[in-house]
Amino acid sequence: MRKDTKVLHTGVEFDERTGAVSVPIYQTSTFRQKSVGENYGYEYSRTGNPTREALEKAAAELEGGTRGLAFSSGLAAITTVLMLFRSGDHLLVSDDIYGGTFRVIDKVFKEFGLSVSFIDTSDPAAVEAGIKNNTRAIFIESPTNPLLKVTDIQAVAKIAGVHGLLVIVDNTFLTPYWQRPLELGADVVLHSATKYLGGHSDLVAGLVVVKDAKLGERLHFLQNATGNILGPFDSWLLMRGFKTLAVRMEKHEENARKLAPWLKTLPQVKRVFYPGLTEHPGHDIAKKQGTGFGGMISFELESPELALSLLKGLKIITLAESLGGVESLISLPAKMTHASIPPERRKEIGISDALVRISVGIENVEDLKEDIRLGLSK
Ligand code: PLP
Repeated sequence: MRKDTKVLHTGVEFDERTGAVSVPIYQTSTFRQKSVGENYGYEYSRTGNPTREALEKAAAELEGGTRGLAFSSGLAAITTVLMLFRSGDHLLVSDDIYGGTFRVIDKVFKEFGLSVSFIDTSDPAAVEAGIKNNTRAIFIESPTNPLLKVTDIQAVAKIAGVHGLLVIVDNTFLTPYWQRPLELGADVVLHSATKYLGGHSDLVAGLVVVKDAKLGERLHFLQNATGNILGPFDSWLLMRGFKTLAVRMEKHEENARKLAPWLKTLPQVKRVFYPGLTEHPGHDIAKKQGTGFGGMISFELESPELALSLLKGLKIITLAESLGGVESLISLPAKMTHASIPPERRKEIGISDALVRISVGIENVEDLKEDIRLGLSK
């Protein structure tokens, strides 16, 4: 089955009892039991719910894993994966990651005794050099948020294999439509499904998919023990997003491929970050390990003042946190999504106050260009 067919014919395709082609929303907290210890397959919705299960099955199929798990947010998914580790363990984490991922690691898990090195995972030598005796895993975001740095997942998985480390990949920016990390050797793939997978800026959700059934069991144990679940209605809404993933992702990318080179021609733009540009340092790896470059572009303007005035002056592109919705969204990472990263650290990794990130929507690209042109002229 080709991938555009697969995204909508996946998971539970119809309700066994009624034939309904849209999986029913089982809005129930509990399930009647036949007798003590004998049930109809479900006991309590924190542990398992048929609507959530349909979504989890679909997610596992899309990512090519054995088990999927759905959470109340991307960060809930990340938190649950981090709970696989214990005090004294060491992790290697991409230095340019979503600010909330940095915050939960730096401000929560470090308090519980996890030690972490933030490194440039796009450099396999830095990954090799960062491994210590107590290293347990490598956490990669690729491409990264917001600098779109690309990590060679296969190369990192090879290094991890030698040292017996788990490879965790945040695949939010590309989705399984463009990149399937488990096939590249990763053990865990996770998502802020709030973004492209949901696709309509109307939902907050997270997903985890793993290859190994035992690891899946452990994660389900952690999910149930800590109560990190996605409700039935949001599970249904996310599955609805899956059905149009192919058409949306194709259009996001088509627009981004046109917008990135155009942005380069503007005199006020100093640098454009988009893995689809041949001069992007991660272009060849992105091309090798995925089938598309996605719809996220970052660009640096002449000054922070110009960035602020552009963001204020836009009419079509919406100034907002988040990404991956059908509508174009724009943000200033240093003051918004990445404000939780200390300023000196932001400077070190290259997130300047003049860096703008755009989640290219599915509008007519000429309208987006016009909006930016007008916004810059104000
Ligand atoms: N991972 C990435 C790459 C993100 O961009 C985000 C949110 O922006 C998250 C994880 C966290 O997801 P959520 O906002 O759904 O908790």
